[in-house]
Amino acid sequence: MRLVLLGAPGSGKGTQADLLKGRYDCAHISTGDILRQNLKDKTEFGIRAENFMNRGELVPDDLIVEMVREKLRESGVADNFLMDGFPRTLPQAEALEVTLLEFGRPLDAVLHLKIEEELLLRRLTNRRSCRSCGKIWNALAMAPGTTTCLACEGELYQRDDDTEPVIRRRLDVYREQTAPLMAWYEKKGLLRSIDAVNSPEDTFKEIQAALAR
Ligand code: ADP
Ligand code: ZN
Repeated sequence: MRLVLLGAPGSGKGTQADLLKGRYDCAHISTGDILRQNLKDKTEFGIRAENFMNRGELVPDDLIVEMVREKLRESGVADNFLMDGFPRTLPQAEALEVTLLEFGRPLDAVLHLKIEEELLLRRLTNRRSCRSCGKIWNALAMAPGTTTCLACEGELYQRDDDTEPVIRRRLDVYREQTAPLMAWYEKKGLLRSIDAVNSPEDTFKEIQAALAR
């Protein structure tokens, strides 16, 4: 199965990616995660990306595309993968199409997680991630003052770009640069719209139903 998860920041791409990985055993390509790892390791790539990320701007297409191509060249990855956070611009989508054509491995579907903006802001300002296992939590759904991961007791932290001004910028960027991808994939007959306002489990059920159709 070769899938792309499309959706605004906070639409639940990371959470659904974890559920899909568990069910379909595919490689997970999250450009956001790869970038954050590079930042942490202070690679040249991470250093170049940091400013863009902290302002809520997109990292330049050529850097991101090269990063994804490298990942797709790893053994087995191009056969069976799930992309989350990529593509985010039309040039990225076009580059992905060409690359997958070279591999003879076209996409099976593009899942669009649909949700309104007010909800996104609320979700993102309350998002907490685990430093140890990477699991994503919602501060509103946990007991007040919870600082450790309920799965592994690792330290919970708030991403540097999950502050209100940066979130607003990310939502603008999404509207301007990423939203046009829906129509592009729709024309190609790949787009499946998923209602993403309900619980992670309900959203996952919808995804499975969409994939079965
Ligand atoms: P979210 O979807 O919550 O905004 P991500 O983890 O996917 O979070 O991305 C975080 C940041 O990383 C983005 O705001 C952007 O700066 C950078 N980034 C991630 N993926 C891409 C991409 N495909 N193209 C350009 N920049 C990206
Ligand atoms: Zn954890």
